[in-house]
Amino acid sequence: MLFKDIIGHHRIKQQLISTVKDGRVSHAQLFYSKPGSTSFSLALAYAHYINCLNPSAEDSCGTCSNCKQFLSGNYPDLHYSFPVITNDKIKKPTSDDYRKEWLDYIKRCSGIPALHDWLSYLDAGNKQGIMTVSESSSLNRKSSLKSYTGGKKVFLIWLPELFHPSAANKLLKTIEEPEGDTLFLLISENLEKVLQTITSRCQKLFIPLYRPTEVATWLEQQGTDTNTAELTSLLAEGNLNEALRIAEDSARFHEYAVLFRDWMRACLRARVQEIFTFVDALSKQSRETIKEALSFYIQTIELSLKSHVTASPIEHPLFKKASFDLNKFAPFVHAQNAGPIHRQLSEAHRDIARNANPKIVLSDCSFKMSRYLHIKAS
Ligand SMILES: [Zn+2]
Repeated sequence: MLFKDIIGHHRIKQQLISTVKDGRVSHAQLFYSKPGSTSFSLALAYAHYINCLNPSAEDSCGTCSNCKQFLSGNYPDLHYSFPVITNDKIKKPTSDDYRKEWLDYIKRCSGIPALHDWLSYLDAGNKQGIMTVSESSSLNRKSSLKSYTGGKKVFLIWLPELFHPSAANKLLKTIEEPEGDTLFLLISENLEKVLQTITSRCQKLFIPLYRPTEVATWLEQQGTDTNTAELTSLLAEGNLNEALRIAEDSARFHEYAVLFRDWMRACLRARVQEIFTFVDALSKQSRETIKEALSFYIQTIELSLKSHVTASPIEHPLFKKASFDLNKFAPFVHAQNAGPIHRQLSEAHRDIARNANPKIVLSDCSFKMSRYLHIKAS
């Protein structure tokens, strides 16, 4: 991980780089933040920079032998420690038992690991992530070994707040007086829950969450389109995992909006072929998706009626993006037909939940919708 791959945080990057330049890299450091920050990536970029053989004033060189190993995820003196789960075969699990899964996961998580995400990647079900005495013993043992490269051994400990107290206590001596050239980088999302005996032995660095403009830029880096990124960045409150989740939902909801546009145009023009195109498209989806789309349509009808009654214009980014002007559609929903339309959509939702055939339910619903939409407002 290079510093330049992490958006913003210039002051923090400079602060970290200066510890290397001035030869005052503290051997135990605790990066702390709220969930959804870039603290993991920053810690990784810092570990990388410390071990680069030819670093510039701004970043690792990216081309020396150590950099190549770091960038391919194979630097032999970088050790990860993270929460794990028990399974039928492993009763006393350590990070080493899940190393392969972890290396796969951190490639997929865009540098922003999240506990629930990691556990679901492991198919943990209801199991909690744990860090036991076995993990501490493993860390103590590894930290006493010689480094492979002759450089610094780095231990990146993600979520030290999950160490069992006896496991944390077992680490104290190692963190206080590590053998050889060793660096402990702890990354916490809940500083209050890290044992005080640990925090007191670490130099602490607070990593703030991103501002909305940085969240939007980050989302675009992950492949989200500009409009969705801007909309999402305002809702995510700086949490990047949350931003990604909302952005993914937003893409799904955009599809619903496009389908609604085509559906309503077909109903208003009473075009049977176009109605069946809509029915085919939506009925192909899973039941959960159909239910979610129908709930969204119920909300849209409510919104249209409200806008019609109060004569207040609607600003809806999803429909705007789908080139469907809800303000022109709203007058078709009025006191005479809003009740039946609402009831029809709710019944369709209920029938889908009860395993009725989606094609039959959506066809029936469409023809009734078409009829109701042709009722004139009095
Ligand atoms: Zn390098």
